Order: sequence, then structure tokens, then C-alpha cells
Amino acid sequence: MPLRAIRRRLKEIDRNSRRVERNVFDRLQGAAFVLSLVAAPFVVSAMESWQVSDERETACFVRVYTEGVDRTLRAREVEPDERTKPWPGVTPLAEVDFIHRVSRCGWPFATRSIDRPFEVEVKLLGAAQQELRADYVARAEALAISLGKLRTISEETVHPTAWAFSIGVWWILLSLASAIVIAPARVAWYVLRRGRAVVRQRRIDRSHCPNCGYNARESLLQGRCPECGSALYERPDVY
Ligand SMILES: [Zn+2]
Repeated sequence: MPLRAIRRRLKEIDRNSRRVERNVFDRLQGAAFVLSLVAAPFVVSAMESWQVSDERETACFVRVYTEGVDRTLRAREVEPDERTKPWPGVTPLAEVDFIHRVSRCGWPFATRSIDRPFEVEVKLLGAAQQELRADYVARAEALAISLGKLRTISEETVHPTAWAFSIGVWWILLSLASAIVIAPARVAWYVLRRGRAVVRQRRIDRSHCPNCGYNARESLLQGRCPECGSALYERPDVY
């Protein structure tokens, strides 16, 4: 079908379609829908300052000890599930936890995550000396670093998929919020219009002027109210 025929057909359809009346609230709602999409990325960006979760994970667990009469500090990595097992033949001095924290920011989806540098938690055991605490930590840290298990710098990751979905959610939420704000005005307007239509229809039924209520029985043929000059006939209100 040539383009011109299609256009003619569309015009024909348009001419014969019932007009959908868009009142001021529908237009307002439409504008709010578009504005919500524009505003959504800014809201997502603002939500990024909100840290939603903070996870801690043991990156490395090290035991510091001495063996026999030898005073040299030794260190060994221990699997977390073996930390309660006794170590025969050694003198345990300290248990050092190296912890990696991951913070997730953004709502409803985490759009940014921050992998923070390691933190240290030390537990001194029976034979340990308080003043050697720094030495124990240094020994354990040297081992953990040599094993390549410690993150020393902060790393930030942006998640594009979370961004896209968060924008979608905020778009819907903002649109809904605008609909809720507009709803009371919409209802009030409808009730007002409906009430006005009822009054006018009742006047028309009694051959009175719908505008001013004047008894226009004598002037029906003229079609105009002698009192206020408005039309005595009008289309029934569809509302
Ligand atoms: Zn009148």
C-alpha cells in the first residue's frame, strides 16, 4: 500500500474516532510522568550517599606463636574453621584477624560498592606480652601480605545494571507519587462537574434556562434565554 493511501486511511480513522478528552489533570499527569524519568537519575545519584550494607569478611586469619625455647616469633595462616583446634608443642601468643569490609550504597539496588582496605583485630593469648603486641601484628601482617591476601587500597565499583534498574524503580515511584498527589484534585473536579451537570440537566428538563434557571417556556422557539442570552439547548454532558 502506497504511503499516501496509508496516510489517507489514518486521517479517515482519526476523523471517525471518538475524541478522548484529556483534562488538565491528565496533562499534568503526563508531564509528571516525563519529569519523573528526568528526575530519576538524580534521585538514584542522591541515594548513593546512603550506605545500605556493610559486610565484613575475614580475608586472612593468622596465629602468632613461638616454638619451644626459641623466642623467634612465628606465624601461620589458619583456616577459620580450624581456629578452635589446639596447637600442640607451641606457645600461642596472638590471633590476628585481617578483615575486609565491603560497603554497598544506593537504593533500591546497590549502585556503588566500596571495597575497603584491610582492618586488623588482635586477640592476645595467655603467654602474650602486651608491649609486644605491635610485633605480633607486624609478624602476622608480613605473612598475610606475602600470601597476597590483603587489600591495601580502597576500590570503588559502579554497577551500571543496578543503575538502570534503580532508575526504573524511581521512575515508577515518582510517577505513582504524582498520581497520588493529583488524585484528590481530580476527584474534587469530577464531583464538581458532575454536580453542575445534574443541576443544568434538571433545569433543561423543566424548560428552564440551564445557565440562570429562568423559566424560558415562552422563549423555547427562539432558543435563547431572554434573561441572560445563553443557549437553551445544549448537548448532554457525557460525564
Ligand atoms: Zn438564562
